[in-house]
Parts: sequence; C-alpha cells; structure tokens
Amino acid sequence: MRIHANDGINADAKTRLQEEGFTVTTDHVPQEQLIAFINAEKVDVLLVRSATKARKELIDACPGLKLIGRGGVGLDNIDVAHAKTKGIPVINTPASSSISVAELVMAHLFGLMRNLHESNRTMPVDGRTKFKDLKKAYEKGTEVRGKTIGIIGFGRIGQWTARYALGCGMRVIYVDNSAVAEAIELEINGQTVRVGVKMVTMEELLAQADAISVHVPGQKDGQPVLSAEHLAQVKPGVVIVNTARGGSIDEDALLAALKSGRVKGAALDVFTNEPEPRADLLTEPKLSLSPHIGAATAEAQGRVGEELADLIISWRDSVQVNS
Ligand code: NAD
Repeated sequence: MRIHANDGINADAKTRLQEEGFTVTTDHVPQEQLIAFINAEKVDVLLVRSATKARKELIDACPGLKLIGRGGVGLDNIDVAHAKTKGIPVINTPASSSISVAELVMAHLFGLMRNLHESNRTMPVDGRTKFKDLKKAYEKGTEVRGKTIGIIGFGRIGQWTARYALGCGMRVIYVDNSAVAEAIELEINGQTVRVGVKMVTMEELLAQADAISVHVPGQKDGQPVLSAEHLAQVKPGVVIVNTARGGSIDEDALLAALKSGRVKGAALDVFTNEPEPRADLLTEPKLSLSPHIGAATAEAQGRVGEELADLIISWRDSVQVNS
C-alpha cells in the first residue's frame, strides 16, 4: 500500500510504516499538482498537516484514495463529511500537540510581559548607540506571577495552558461553551495536585484578565471569538495571544486596539491569510509573531507520527479482516 505524507512525517513513524510493508513518500507536491500525483502514483493514503488541502475537488478526482490522515488537531483543510460520503475515513491526532502549543503560548506571554518582541527588533539596530534609551523604553515590564489569565476555549490546549499558567502562579479564569472544569490536575515531580480554576462569563473574562489566550476551533459561523466589540471591553493594558485559528481574532480590530494602547501587546501564531499574512500585522511593533509553529516541536511531531502510524496500521488490519 502506498502512503504519501505531503507535509512530511517524522522519521520514526516513516520507518515503522515501512517495516509494516507500506511504501511511504514524503516529498512535498504543490497543491495544484497533487491530484495528478495521487492518481499517477496510485496513492492509497494521503497524509497532511495544515498546509495541504484535501477538498471535495481532490477527493472526487482521486477515486483510488482509501484513507486521509491529518497530523494534528483541526480538520478545516479537509472536507471530512464529503470524504465520508465517498467511504473514505479521515483520521487525525488531536491530543498529540497540546503541550507544545501551550508552551508556545507561555513563550509569547513571557516575551510580551517583558517587551522581548520589541527589544529583539530594536537591539540589533540601536543596541550599540542607544543602549540607555532602549533600557528606559523597556523597563516597565511586568511579572506573570499573581496575574489573571483568561482562557477562551477550555479544551485540550486551553487546559494545558492553564497547567503552565497555574505553575507560574497565575489565576486562571475561562469561558467555554461546553467543557466545565472546577480544577486542573498538575503533575509536579511525580506528585499530582489539584488547583482550582473558574468558569466565568465572557464579560467577566474581558474585564478581569491581564492576559487572554484563545483556544477555540474554527467557528461554524466564521465569526471571530474576539471581535471589535469584545476588544472594547478588555482590561486596559491586557496582552492577548492567539494560537488557535487566524479568524479567531478580528485582525483589524486587534490592530486598532494595539494602536490605541487599550491592548498593550499581542502574539499571533496564526493568521487569516496563511501562508501570506497581511503586511501591516508583520510590521506592527506591538505584535510578537511566529509562523504557525504551535505544534512544531520534535516531541509533538514524534507523538503525531506515532499516533498516525498506529491509526493507519489498525485501519489496514481492519480493512484486511473485512475484505
Ligand atoms: P478542543 O476541541 O480540545 O478544545 C476547544 C474548546 O473550545 C472546546 O472545549 C469547545 O467547547 C470550546 N469552544 C468552541 N467554540 C467556543 C466558543 N465560541 N466560545 C467558547 N468556547 C468554545 O481543541 P484543542 O485541541 O484545544 O485546539 C484548540 C485550537 O488550537 C484549534 O483551533 C486548533 O486548530 C488550534 N491548534 C493550533 C495549533 C498551532 O500550531 N498553532 C496546533 C494545534 C491546534
């Protein structure tokens, strides 16, 4: 059976699948050539991350496809319902990257609190000639300990972010339209402790949070969970981190809130127009930026590969049993 991992797969998973008898290719094929490639190479299993799209057009044009796999959480780049109508199962690895995304949130958060995103831009240019001016410009940093983080979307990544935030001495409040947790378990050096977290209304979260982190999936109505109306209600001087989806925050409203000073700083790992984010976001000094690398750690990609390999092998075994 032929597997093509168009956005790559970790080396151990590739080896394991090869040992199981699969032929695995990982060279990236541009989206516009992918249909022809899948048909010419008789690909049975297409694996993608977030870059490659498996839309209705591709699914219809590739009758030999038997399984589609997504290494990661969101399935918005795959027409899952349509694949199912064609008898093609879609698998993904939702839990494997939660820790890595939560750690990126904390990295951005610490940077924002101490203006590292700005000083990393200005030090290479002015560090030798205006050191004292830069020291003065960035001397009003704040600690995270004792601050309140408001988490929007308290699922897997939201709860891992809460663990790290609690570990740093932050108070955690959250909104979620389904998950309800009154406490979170933290494992520290083999000991497990339960620490309280509080579900609040969106209005309470906006009014109380010193830092906001967004962890909802893409919304069915396409609307941002942080709109201009919401940003008008935030605590002045708040910092905001978005590692969810580009559309989760209204980018125009965020830029306006940064320029007015209502929002002190923000971090974006995801953008509405990926892979070509708008230029005015990239040049905004109050934004801490990363190119959609939330899940991109060795550990997460190892777990993604391992889980995908398990799922593919079980699927192959079940297909063989049933045929
Ligand atoms: P999850 O399904 O475990 O949790 C999402 C939570 O959001 C759920 O509890 C759900 O009830 C809640 N929710 C949905 N809509 C809401 C709304 N309007 N208001 C309040 N709560 C709402 O998902 P997850 O694994 O935690 O992933 C969260 C997001 O992170 C997804 O958008 C995913 O695509 C994104 N993600 C990004 C990266 C990255 O590289 N930056 C990597 C992995 C996942």
